Amino acid sequence: MKLAIVGAGVAGSYLGNRLQDEGHQIEIFESSRKESHWPVCAWGASKNMLETFSKNAGLNFDNYVLHRGKKLRMDLPHEKIEYLDLKGLVTYDKYKWEQDLCQGLKLNYGFHCNPESDFLSNFDYVIDCTGFHRSLLPRSPQDFIIPSYEFLVENVSEIDEFYVIGYKGARGYFWFFPLGDGRAYMGAGDIDRNYYGISEFFKKYHQAKILKKIGRPIRLSPPKRMLPFNNDNIIGVGESIGCVFPLLGEGIIPSLICCDIFIDVLNTDSTFDVGLYEKRILKKFGYYDDVYRIVRLKMDGKLNSVKHFKLLMSMYRNMKREEKRFGFGIDFEQMNRLLKAL
Ligand SMILES: Cc1cc2nc3c(=O)[nH]c(=O)nc-3n(C[C@H](O)[C@H](O)[C@H](O)COP(=O)(O)OP(=O)(O)OC[C@H]3O[C@@H](n4cnc5c(N)ncnc54)[C@H](O)[C@@H]3O)c2cc1C
Repeated sequence: MKLAIVGAGVAGSYLGNRLQDEGHQIEIFESSRKESHWPVCAWGASKNMLETFSKNAGLNFDNYVLHRGKKLRMDLPHEKIEYLDLKGLVTYDKYKWEQDLCQGLKLNYGFHCNPESDFLSNFDYVIDCTGFHRSLLPRSPQDFIIPSYEFLVENVSEIDEFYVIGYKGARGYFWFFPLGDGRAYMGAGDIDRNYYGISEFFKKYHQAKILKKIGRPIRLSPPKRMLPFNNDNIIGVGESIGCVFPLLGEGIIPSLICCDIFIDVLNTDSTFDVGLYEKRILKKFGYYDDVYRIVRLKMDGKLNSVKHFKLLMSMYRNMKREEKRFGFGIDFEQMNRLLKAL
């Protein structure tokens, strides 16, 4: 098939690589210019899954790992501290990973696409991999995004582990993700736009040198709230259709899982079965809606551990089942403590 992929982020690059390998004719259109193209992300994810995705795409994930986490320190309101045991959480060179996925692909930079872009009519299907922008699909009235920005910094060898500060009411968090060699991503997502932790960080580590300042909002509304997934022959994949874990704003692995489902559905018939795609996405990411409801209730100060016991159990059971995919230990007591403290 002749397929256009719009957006060369994590989903677009991986999908392009896999689909071209399967014999499809692929062309990618990316809005940013080649010189300024950069994955806006803190580059943290579980290696347990990325090893498999990389292998599927002919890459060796070991070549991209920057930092292997052991413990994540989490500062919580009222000076409480929790440590998460890390079981595979790493930072990796996402820029290089995406560039390598795109080797041999026809990738056109500087093409900002919209539904009126004429050249897209030459393709059997157009895949909207524009992430947060969702540029080719209709807006969803249930869309919910959290503003965020971050710095790529160097000269910060003092902290060599994952570190986060959780905000009261789960309204966001500050992160510090080490990238090795004294480099790190440091930033925050915050519904109230206070971004506590960022200026405090610069005051404490005044030797930190800023290499980049980047940002964009992160979508927290899950697939169930991001319908429709298509508009005629335009089909959404990745964050554009809400494949982000709402509690953490973590979208690398969910977007890649979404790509695999897309590829599977594409391979089942000579025409793409949108109904089947929708069904499979909603099933796979079904519990993300429970997690999203927990987050919104918490943000509104309405989460009650008795009243919302079923929701909380759904989140715990599903996260426990997918522990490897998160890259940190999931413990019921700890999850309760965290939610109570926030
Ligand atoms: C500050 C920040 C930190 C994050 N940190 C993490 C993290 O550590 N771990 C994690 O798992 N997730 C993280 N996320 C979320 C994660 O980055 C995204 O969910 C994930 O990258 C989504 O992948 P995607 O391919 O769907 O979209 P993206 O990776 O966002 O790619 C979309 C691409 O489409 C292009 N594009 C947009 N509009 C158009 C258009 N109209 N025409 C052509 N091209 C277009 C963009 O330039 C971009 O290259 C973070 C997000 C942010 C904002």
